[in-house]
Amino acid sequence: MRHDHWIGGKADAPASGEYLATIDPTTRASGDEIAAGTAADVERAVAAAAVAQPEWARRSAADRSAALHAVADVVESNADDLIELERACTGKIPAQLRMEVDMSAAYLRYYAGVLRAHHGRTIELGAGVHTYTRLEPYGVVAVITPWNLPLNQACRAAAPALAVGNAVVAKPSEFTSTSTLHLARLATDAGLPDGLFNVVTGTGPEAGTPLVSHPAVRRIAFTGSVVTGRLLAGIAAERLVPMTVELGGKSPIVVFADADLDRAVAAAVTTLAMNAGQVCSATTRLLVEASAHDDVVGRVVEAVARLQPGVDFGPMITEAQYAKVLDHFAAARDAGAVPATGGAAYDDGPGAAGLYVQPTVYANVDPQLRVAREEVFGPVLVTIPFTSEDDAVARANDTEYGLVGSVWSGDLARGLRVAEQIDAGQVAVNGGPLTIETPFGGFKGSGYGREKGLEALHEYALVKTISASLH
Ligand code: NAD
Repeated sequence: MRHDHWIGGKADAPASGEYLATIDPTTRASGDEIAAGTAADVERAVAAAAVAQPEWARRSAADRSAALHAVADVVESNADDLIELERACTGKIPAQLRMEVDMSAAYLRYYAGVLRAHHGRTIELGAGVHTYTRLEPYGVVAVITPWNLPLNQACRAAAPALAVGNAVVAKPSEFTSTSTLHLARLATDAGLPDGLFNVVTGTGPEAGTPLVSHPAVRRIAFTGSVVTGRLLAGIAAERLVPMTVELGGKSPIVVFADADLDRAVAAAVTTLAMNAGQVCSATTRLLVEASAHDDVVGRVVEAVARLQPGVDFGPMITEAQYAKVLDHFAAARDAGAVPATGGAAYDDGPGAAGLYVQPTVYANVDPQLRVAREEVFGPVLVTIPFTSEDDAVARANDTEYGLVGSVWSGDLARGLRVAEQIDAGQVAVNGGPLTIETPFGGFKGSGYGREKGLEALHEYALVKTISASLH
């Protein structure tokens, strides 16, 4: 099936007249086609957004809240359609798809709720003066998302941006655009004003770059790779336009010998299997206190070796990602690393037709190895022993990234002490929940800006101070 852009509340054919092919990664069979967007399409989308935004911003918080709740309603009532669109281009397993759609609706509901408590403040400067701040929207916000959690990431950025009174032009990944397109259609059906939420599909250079370069785009939310993030941050800096930069990670999971090892092992296996490791916040470096290393790693390897393709985890979502993971396997092999399990694609059986790779553990690796330093973005875990609390912290921080961390210890004081020393935007201690309410974003090479939580609302609002003399 062919999908056009969604601009101004309706499907809109690409000016180029061209469409891009997608695949079903479970079989490599061809899938839907999406509009090959160009600067001309971006122009129409940004113009529609700029027209729709002022009226939306003037609405009461209660009205905007009701409108976003209505969008959440249609996401929930059309969950099966959204799941099918997402499945067709990502091949994810049902539990993962369900969780993503549920989370997408939850983002809309959360920001529909908290926007009503998002206010400026008065600043007391003495008698005869009235000074206060207003939180004003930027105007048109560009939302550029990757292919690993497409609907989720679109909602994660668009919900707070819309809540504050902005209009959005989204540019999803060219590999996984259809759920975001359908979200925009559903949002229009639910009563969101035409032009408030637009989707232009296409490649990064053809559609994404014109979007972030457009003079009417005043705020950018980017989620994706370091290379693209750096490129777009350069454009944004040149334009003096603020940007949220959500990039990758090589996050540590630190396990002390006194931890509840069953839960720690389960956490390590879950993070490897979830979305087949194609999760920016996956904790892919398992650091274990030396006295427990072999026991913990043995249990992890046993559980990982039992994971079944198509049942417990999905395929790599793009051909390029599949090739990248296989390249990591080859480089690790060339460097002398022997996987404790996995380390290859599937030659036969259920995983062989699609872009599946074997869940893989490299035990007790040299921390300088490429597979131990670079983000693989696949079901690949490396393990490294540590000897003391200080050694654990040093190894956890021995990375250019800083997105998340996880610490497991029977001594909560130690767990918190280590968590406070890890250079990352979020750290869970003994599996503490990290939810929509908890601000998320990088330290170091994982980017800047915060999504989720109340922080995301602040990201999409400009603070204006008005001060009046009453004399
Ligand atoms: P990518 O950078 O290739 O693409 C991301 C988006 O940017 C896509 O929509 C793409 O079309 C667009 N893009 C690419 N080149 C562009 C250009 N020159 N100009 C404008 N837009 C351009 O990343 P990807 O391969 O789709 O995603 C994988 C990466 O995303 C991983 O590194 C992962 O860690 C990261 N990620 C981060 C988070 C987070 O929240 N921190 C979440 C998910 C994924």
